[in-house]
Order: sequence, then C-alpha cells, then structure tokens
Amino acid sequence: MSEKDLRFNSKTIHGGQQPDKAYGAVMPPIYQTSTYAQTTPGGHQGFEYSRSGNPTRTALENSLASIESGSYGLAFASGLAAMDAVIKLLEPGDEVVSTNDLYGGSYRLFKQVFEKYGIKFHFIGMQDLSFIESHINEKTALIWVETPTNPMMNVIDLKGVAHLAKKHQVLLAVDNTFATPYLQRPLEFGADIVMHSATKYLGGHSDVVVGALVVKDKDLADKLYFIQNASGAVCGPMDSFLVLRGIKTLHLRMQRHCENGKAIAAYLSNHPKIEKVYWPGLEDHPNHQIAKDQMKDFGGMISFVPKGSSFTDAVKIVENLKLFTLAESLGGVESLAGHPASMTHASIPKEEREKSGVVDALIRLSVGIEDVEDLIADLDQAIS
Ligand SMILES: *Cc1c(COP(=O)(O)O)cnc(C)c1O
Repeated sequence: MSEKDLRFNSKTIHGGQQPDKAYGAVMPPIYQTSTYAQTTPGGHQGFEYSRSGNPTRTALENSLASIESGSYGLAFASGLAAMDAVIKLLEPGDEVVSTNDLYGGSYRLFKQVFEKYGIKFHFIGMQDLSFIESHINEKTALIWVETPTNPMMNVIDLKGVAHLAKKHQVLLAVDNTFATPYLQRPLEFGADIVMHSATKYLGGHSDVVVGALVVKDKDLADKLYFIQNASGAVCGPMDSFLVLRGIKTLHLRMQRHCENGKAIAAYLSNHPKIEKVYWPGLEDHPNHQIAKDQMKDFGGMISFVPKGSSFTDAVKIVENLKLFTLAESLGGVESLAGHPASMTHASIPKEEREKSGVVDALIRLSVGIEDVEDLIADLDQAIS
C-alpha cells in the first residue's frame, strides 16, 4: 500500500516512517550525535553534521510532511524559530498582511524584531476577504493567517484567502497550531506553508518546545532548508523523538479534546454567570459555517467572559481552579487555564488587544482529555 493512500489516522503512526536500518528499531533511535564518521572526505551516509541533518529529526520531518499533506517538513527549536525562518524569506521593503488576533509571541516577533529590518506588517481582521484584498499591494510578499485565532477563536476562510494569495502571487502561510492537521490541512486548501508550534497538540504532553514548517513546493523547501541550516535554530534529536511519539496518538487525543470541548462549551453557554463563550462549534459563533466547512470538528480551545467581571475577578476565577492548571501554553493532555491579558497577550498593547476582543476579563481554556465531568465540576466551583 503506498503511503499516499493511507488515511489520516494511519499516517499519524506510519507516515514517512520505516524501521531503523541498523537494527530494525520500530521507533527511530535518538541519534544523540553532532557528527558522523566519513570514509573519505565527503563520503558519508547522508548525514555529516547535526545542524544540517540528523536521522531522528529527519524521521520527524517526514512524519510532519505526511500528516499535513505536504512534501517537505522542517523541524525547528521552537514555533517562533519556525516563523523566524519564514520571515527571513522576505527582504527589506516587503510587506506582510497578518491576522490581528494572533499568538502574542508572533506579534512580538513581527513587530519588535522584523520591523526594524524594514519589513512592514499590517495586522487586520480577516473575516472579510475584500478587506484582506484591500491591504494587498505590489510590496506584499506574504499573508500570515492563524485560524482559529488565539484567543478569540475566529475562523478564517482558508480557501478564500488561498485564492487571494494565488491571484496576487503572494505566499500564504498558516499557523495550524490550534487546529492541527486532524482538524484542517491548509495545504489542501492552497496554502504554501503550514507552521506549527509542535510544543502544543503535536507533542501533546507539555514536555517539549518544538516548531515545524511543511510545504509542497521543492523550490520553497530548498529556500527554507537553506535558512534552517544557515540560521541554525534546529530541533534536537531528543525533542524530535518526543514529538514523533506525540504525533502517533494525535488523532485519539484530538477526538477527546473535541468531545470535552463540546461539553464544556455547552456548560458555559448555559451558565447564568457567563456573558460570552467563544468556541467555533457553537451555532451562534459568527464563523460557525466556515468552521463546519473547513474543519473536521471544533477543537478543545475555548475562551469565555464571566458576566460583569473585571481584571481581578477573572484572575480570581483562574486562581480558584484546581484541576485546570493555571499556565501558559495549550494542547497537552492536561487541562490548562490562562488569562490572556496578563499572560500570553501581555506583550500586545491594551488598546491593540481590546480592538480584537481580548478584554481584561477574558479567560482561555485548553481543555484536556480528563473525564469531562471532573473538568465541569472544577469550573463550577471556581465560577461560583
Ligand atoms: C505557542 C504558539 C506559538 C509559538 O510557538 P513556540 O513553540 O512557543 O515558540 C505560535 N503560534 C501559536 C498559535 C502558538 O500557540
């Protein structure tokens, strides 16, 4: 059976994987080595130095390419290192049209690191395709999309944006961290680059910081590989192994994240003390129809605003949670709660934050895979 014929759940386990050549190890060994013996100068077996390539990292990169329906995967030291490589494709004077409601660290990288190299970023709402198009000009080189967005859970029409990108011949990159390829595969909609913080759902166990890119086009893959090797923010062998192991249960974990997410979104929506719930699976979510069209299910990320709450009330609720851990990050097996205004999004100025809905009382949940009755009981005691 050819690899291309495999369905998604089989790809998470077998995609791009072969038993190790040396002893037939079923899991790729952790090749904890920086260098490789050569028989004559340049006479090596495909690996010469571990920044340029490492067999454990290659195994992860092949798995990533397979699950994202791409041809080439690249694994980096972190999600931000992967993004950094994408922006390094650009030149001074180039412009980027980016989602406004995006991961705080992404905003910081664009704004505080790359703007001083002469790259201009437009942060805009991406609900309306003609509004996106009005920001594309002859200098635009890249559209950067995050969907569902963080933490407002807006859903952006990937097919529509890909069509715009093709029409204006600009690259389209999609941060697929929240959705994972279990829920949506942007390359299938026409995106050029998929990016992941594999720290989150792909790794899935909150034990590693890793980033990834996947592309289809050989030329683009070569350019990104050049940057990966030249800049050097590569994923190490141990971390590659951990993410590979995580990916093997991605589909099972995501299934439960989605089930638990649904139950908690319903619980919060019916709670008299809750003002607003943001989860794309709710019928009154403004982008529910697009979410249904492009996602397999709706995920385990939920944001909500308690009624009449201030900054301190919201902080109190997250502090009262016992089973949900108050922590940055998301996508692990354990449930986490966060307060974006003081945590993940603290690096975005308050006015900028509130424009996209990240108010002081907003609470974000990464719903884990515990028994959902226990999670609801915990929310219940913390809210009341
Ligand atoms: C965490 C995260 C990042 C950054 O990834 P790191 O692995 O922390 O560098 C980027 N985008 C999204 C959506 C994230 O959640």
